[in-house]
Amino acid sequence: MSGRTSDTMNWHALEADVAMEQLKSRPEGLTPEEVQERLKEYGPNSLPAPLKKSALMRFLSQLHNVLIYLLLVAAVVTAFLGEWVDTGVILGVVIINTFIGFIQEGKAEKALDAIRNMLSPQALVLRDGKQLQVAADTLVPGDVVILQSGDKVPADVRIFRARDLRIDEAMLTGESVPAEKYTTAVPEDAPIGDRKGMAYSGTLVTYGQARGVVSGTGVATEIGRINAMLTEVEAITTPLLRKMDHFGRILTMAILLLAAFSFTIGLLFQGYNLVENLLAAVSLAVAAIPEGLPAIMTITLALGVQRMARRNSIIRQLPAVETLGSVTVICSDKTGTLTRNEMTVTTIATADGLIEVDGVGYQPVGNFHRNGERIEADTDTLLRHLCRVGLLCNDSVLSQSENEWTIQGDPTEGALITLALKAGMDRRQEQGKYPRDDSIPFESDHRFMATLHHDHNGKGFAFVKGAPERLLEMCEQQRTQDGSNVSLEKAYWQECIQQIASQGQRTLALACKPMPAQQTELSFDDVQSGLVLLGMVGIIDPPRTEAIEGIRQCLSAGIRVKMITGDHALTARAIGKELGIGDGTTALTGSELETMDDEELMRRIDEVDIFARSSPEHKLRLVKALQSQGNIVAMTGDGVNDAPALKRADVGVAMGIKGTEVSKEASKMVLADDNFASIVAAVKEGRTIYDNLKKAILFILPTNGGQAGAILVAILLGMAAMPITPVQILWVNMVTAVTLALVLAFDPSERNVMNRPPRDPGEPILSPFLIWRIAFVSLILVIGSLSMFQWGLDNKHMSLESARSAAINGLVVGQIFYLFSVRRIIDTSFSPLAFTGNIYAWIAIGVVIVLQGLFTYFPPMQQLFGTGPLDLTAWLRIIWIGVAIFLVVEVEKFVWRRRLCRGDQCEQP
Ligand code: ATP
Repeated sequence: MSGRTSDTMNWHALEADVAMEQLKSRPEGLTPEEVQERLKEYGPNSLPAPLKKSALMRFLSQLHNVLIYLLLVAAVVTAFLGEWVDTGVILGVVIINTFIGFIQEGKAEKALDAIRNMLSPQALVLRDGKQLQVAADTLVPGDVVILQSGDKVPADVRIFRARDLRIDEAMLTGESVPAEKYTTAVPEDAPIGDRKGMAYSGTLVTYGQARGVVSGTGVATEIGRINAMLTEVEAITTPLLRKMDHFGRILTMAILLLAAFSFTIGLLFQGYNLVENLLAAVSLAVAAIPEGLPAIMTITLALGVQRMARRNSIIRQLPAVETLGSVTVICSDKTGTLTRNEMTVTTIATADGLIEVDGVGYQPVGNFHRNGERIEADTDTLLRHLCRVGLLCNDSVLSQSENEWTIQGDPTEGALITLALKAGMDRRQEQGKYPRDDSIPFESDHRFMATLHHDHNGKGFAFVKGAPERLLEMCEQQRTQDGSNVSLEKAYWQECIQQIASQGQRTLALACKPMPAQQTELSFDDVQSGLVLLGMVGIIDPPRTEAIEGIRQCLSAGIRVKMITGDHALTARAIGKELGIGDGTTALTGSELETMDDEELMRRIDEVDIFARSSPEHKLRLVKALQSQGNIVAMTGDGVNDAPALKRADVGVAMGIKGTEVSKEASKMVLADDNFASIVAAVKEGRTIYDNLKKAILFILPTNGGQAGAILVAILLGMAAMPITPVQILWVNMVTAVTLALVLAFDPSERNVMNRPPRDPGEPILSPFLIWRIAFVSLILVIGSLSMFQWGLDNKHMSLESARSAAINGLVVGQIFYLFSVRRIIDTSFSPLAFTGNIYAWIAIGVVIVLQGLFTYFPPMQQLFGTGPLDLTAWLRIIWIGVAIFLVVEVEKFVWRRRLCRGDQCEQP
């Protein structure tokens, strides 16, 4: 338990400065020493970990499973019959199974916890006057935090400065409309929803900016008091696992019916006595239950999710893993996801024509040219003023460490700082000459940013930068080379935009406006009109090479990629062409989209892959339109306003680096590196996990089918002895099958995994193909093991025990060969890769060979399991059976491939 106990304080009722005083803090924040001291005193700003099931409860919950109940009944029946060894072994199996389930569930949970920790929230604080990004759990009472739209409030905060602040407090108040916040104090008895001067931990900033002082951390926050809602335990499950659970129940019923059927046949027609018959029915039931399957499926899923995390895709909600494999459309943002987000200004347009700028990246080295001739930026007043606006209407920081120039903040702004430095300007000096009084931050919705400055003579200026079309609406005049203002020539500027954008450059316009000397606050109305346009810049942002490859892979995997960007249509088209999205000629803009009704959008959406000048609300319409056409949509996003679309998409994908907390909260997956290629890797992994789950089922169920079938056939044929006894069956199910099946959880992707169309999400896991394959392989395993058993019985030198050894070893060796077959569901396994692609296969086989040796030859094991030794001829026959099983399945695969594949493209059976 941690945090300050501040129950006695009604922070909302205190004036902000009084609260600040009480908390012994200052507007510029605490010093690092004070933070350390307070951290010791109040503890970290975190809530106690959600209550987990106790170890004992987790252990016991493993027993709560129909299949285990059936085993317990089998134990009672064998005990009743006096077959104590069988009873002991069955109970042993129940205990081992419970342990394995318990350990694996624990491991899977740990893996997922580790992944969740990768998403720990951050907070922006002021300490000693410096702005710092820190882990939210290091906040202490008295810390000054900065809140911006998109943030999750990191602690309870008394606000002392607010600008258009709106906070979504639904989690505390149930109120779905975001509450407006100010700095005012309210009466002591005001309910939470009315406490205008407070921002509460865990709520979401949907608009505006603010500063506040932390009044409570950890359990002393409002949310800490209602901790109950955080203590739910999230079960490790997905629709597929739930379906399998359901399948387990149906299977159990079927097994019971089958056992009853064989019991009746044995008693009425074959003349077995009651004890023999009961034992046979128990064997049949035990044989048919896939004891190890649930554990294998859970571990396959957990391992897959871990692999995804290593490839920078962090899954927040497990069902997304399966949905990823079915995705048919990926809608991606452009900047930073498809492009590198390393921006450089290369073109400038002023009223006097175009200027080219040299240099790459953020390094401020480069010259200016007009018509091929170098110009000196120091003497060009218009150029200098344009650069000044770019430099001062700017919240980012450019810094140099070891010859590398990096930017903190928005790359578009970084490009403008570099540009100003190339023009020989000094940021400190400019900031000194034109100190900033106020600002309107950039938002994708209004597409501009504005700042208010005063020079030393008291003259006021508004500096504005933003999307050119937007600024053209706000400007009335343009600045000429000689410094005078003349009326705006819109047509000229439109042409400039066309020219810059058609080269794939991002366009941005810069403008200014004189302001009254006494004005210290800037409002929207101040800059809506009367601006003077200084010029425009063209910024390049090269595509990511790995995104080009990713898009190519998507296309061959039957997935459409749509690019959604705030950029100009021409820029978007040109970049889309480089990336391989769209045909280079079609793009739909946000304003065109707004004029369409839903039906028209649905009609057009298939033809268009590029959506330009679009804002977050358009994303929601696009997702809906795509979904209504039956698509499974993955959508990326980073801003607050992207949240509805992210939530609505089948797989919402938030950006880990530049994404807001709100967008992460709304998403099922977070990209640690903001890179489009990671989405493609996640889709591939999602398909692989699904394949591996399928392979585990395809591997384990025929083992059960083979054994149950062998017993059933033996009963139907009225054989004198059963080919396999219950304890032997349990050995096969629990030891060899599980050891071998675990290999499949580590299986790498199949060769054609990204060459086939997406999986239909409605498709049942046990498709007719899978049922066929399970029945087919079961049948050959029945034939293999029964023929070995019969051969043993016919062989005068062999005991019944040895004949059973032969049957079981036939089955296990058959499984070993089948393991290589099943690694490729319909692809041929006649390839070196099928044998070398997964090193765990050989380790597992080594383990199984040693275990089978002990099972067959080690006297105590012989005693326990009722087995006998085998000679070389028997082994040769067994190996031959294994090879035969492998070959028969390969022939079956060949037949399927002829039906389903065209070249490299195979439909999923
Ligand atoms: P994405 O492709 O990821 O959706 P984007 O960067 O293309 O994002 P926005 O960020 O919405 O889209 O930018 C849209 C336009 O707004 C840009 O083309 C540019 O003209 C302008 N712009 C971008 N960043 C800023 C900024 N920091 N200040 C002012 N204007 C900006």
